[in-house]
Amino acid sequence: ERAAALAASTGPGATSDGHKVPLLANIGGPADVAAAVEAGAEGVGLFRTEFLFLDDSTRAPSEEKQVEAYRAVLEAFPEARVVVRVLDAGADKPLEFLTPAAEPNPALGVRGLRSLLENPEVLATQLAALSKAAEGLPVYLEVMAPMVADRTDAKAFAAACRAAGLRAKVGAMVEVPSAALRARSVLQEVEFLSLGTNDLAQYTFAADRQVGAVSRLQDPWQPALLDLVALSTEAAGAEGKSCGVCGEAASDPLLACVLTGLGVTSLSMGAASIPHVRATLGRYTLAQCERAAAAARAADTADEARAAASAVLGAR
Ligand code: PEP
Ligand code: MG
Repeated sequence: ERAAALAASTGPGATSDGHKVPLLANIGGPADVAAAVEAGAEGVGLFRTEFLFLDDSTRAPSEEKQVEAYRAVLEAFPEARVVVRVLDAGADKPLEFLTPAAEPNPALGVRGLRSLLENPEVLATQLAALSKAAEGLPVYLEVMAPMVADRTDAKAFAAACRAAGLRAKVGAMVEVPSAALRARSVLQEVEFLSLGTNDLAQYTFAADRQVGAVSRLQDPWQPALLDLVALSTEAAGAEGKSCGVCGEAASDPLLACVLTGLGVTSLSMGAASIPHVRATLGRYTLAQCERAAAAARAADTADEARAAASAVLGAR
């Protein structure tokens, strides 16, 4: 019965009472496009552009090479949203030509947007390539920066996008607690937010995402993380802007319902998770998701939050 329900799960993501939550794919490059289309992704919510930079970590790929790769992705999603994240180098993804050699704490050092602001020519080339790749295509291009900490970061990124003549929505990832706490201020500079719950958990709990011994603190059901999600969606709602999730949290079907109840406007995940999330979300009303979200936030631990949400949703 469950397999049949999954197979029958097609169409746009929505609660049973029709509240739409677009289900988007996380991709790492053109090679992931087919699976995303196959899963019925309504677009791309996170295009991790790092893959292009990994062949040769001593220098950035040429603008031409970037245009080609971006175009291959953009062409696959006509009339759809494609959210491209500019290069997120450093910490768990070091690049020789960008990442400082000897930082005591790479996760707290020059990474993500910080690397790009230190190397503005790398950002300018990437934005120019994106701009050219999207030319003439009927795609809704959105471009976001990783590791935005505050309004100053968001402002610098938005300025770089304007300088590149980019015709795209400009957004900020919320992966640093300060950006969630002051989301309204970040939103003065950008048009949308996207919660990167993997890094947001890492920085909220001071728990390295690569260290198994602290994995308990990386659990996206942690109520403190849910509080930061709520702060972000409330700010976005107040500004009339969108706030999606593109971290691993979105791929847990029950948590996807809770995130919807917290006001998240889209969910982006690995393509393989889309059918299951779509089927689960379609079983509950928005009001049920909201009650599950409130119950989860009222809990004290991740396990209790999970159990409380399950109880509200009568999850099987
Ligand atoms: C995240 O941090 O949640 C995220 C989506 O980005 P990445 O996993 O690539 O750091
Ligand atoms: Mg991240």
